[in-house]
Amino acid sequence: MGHDVTIIERESRLLARVTAKRISAFYHKLHKSNGIKIFTQTNVVAFQGKDAVSTVLCEDKVIPADIVVVGIGAQTYTELAQEAGLLVEHGGIVINELCQTTDMNIYAAGDCTIGIEHHSGLATRIESVPNALEQAKTAAATICGKYKPVTAVPWFWSDQFDCKIQIAGLNQGYDETVLRQKDDKALSLWYLKQGKIIAADCINCAKEFMAAKKIIANKLDVPKALLSNTDIDLFKALAQLS
Ligand SMILES: Cc1cc2nc3c(=O)[nH]c(=O)nc-3n(C[C@H](O)[C@H](O)[C@H](O)COP(=O)(O)OP(=O)(O)OC[C@H]3O[C@@H](n4cnc5c(N)ncnc54)[C@H](O)[C@@H]3O)c2cc1C
Repeated sequence: MGHDVTIIERESRLLARVTAKRISAFYHKLHKSNGIKIFTQTNVVAFQGKDAVSTVLCEDKVIPADIVVVGIGAQTYTELAQEAGLLVEHGGIVINELCQTTDMNIYAAGDCTIGIEHHSGLATRIESVPNALEQAKTAAATICGKYKPVTAVPWFWSDQFDCKIQIAGLNQGYDETVLRQKDDKALSLWYLKQGKIIAADCINCAKEFMAAKKIIANKLDVPKALLSNTDIDLFKALAQLS
């Protein structure tokens, strides 16, 4: 759009909270090659300007700016839930797999909730549209007397330039990664924990993303050699494994 863009990131790499170094490096290169300046390990101290922002003051530099987009996370408001006597932990309203709060007649769904994620067993607060939709369906089903626990594999996406990343599963606690690289702009990184696939970051690899969801949902054992071999169609190979 003809603007000079600068990313200021406090962490040592982009997307440090959610991906491995390999994927961070990919996005760093992608943004750089599209003319974006990136400063990592840089803390913003203040915005300066008279009637509008004109500079972003960092600890060790001053960056001119006329528009600032702040993306530093979100905090949930849980006061209403607390006032209703519901259990709130780590900024989320505690729910069970049926989206019931600690008061069985009060339901919660979406970003404001924290619960045990079905596949990882982790207590997490998931911020994504698919999660909000799944939980809403479960809450509605439970209210209607149907048993429909949330079992969908969590997933996330983001479109940046000509690259679509789709993430399946939660990679927390991974101890190994396997790369499956089709070409410069199409790759997937698989996260394993004690030999089991727990998550995958798929860039321009829709088929791999679908395969990842299936593998995680069904806890399939997939040989690492198969994962990294791009000559083999993963989805077809899965049919033989399951
Ligand atoms: C910049 C940005 C980009 C994002 N990109 C993606 C993405 O690419 N993919 C993805 O999956 N997710 C993305 N998300 C996250 C996604 O938007 C949220 O996970 C999703 O909207 C959560 O849905 P929700 O219904 O839980 O909450 P919300 O969408 O936040 O809806 C909650 C609603 O409740 C209202 N509300 C709050 N308190 C009260 C009250 N007391 N009374 C009445 N109404 C109230 C709020 O005003 C709000 O409208 C993004 C979020 C942001 C901020």
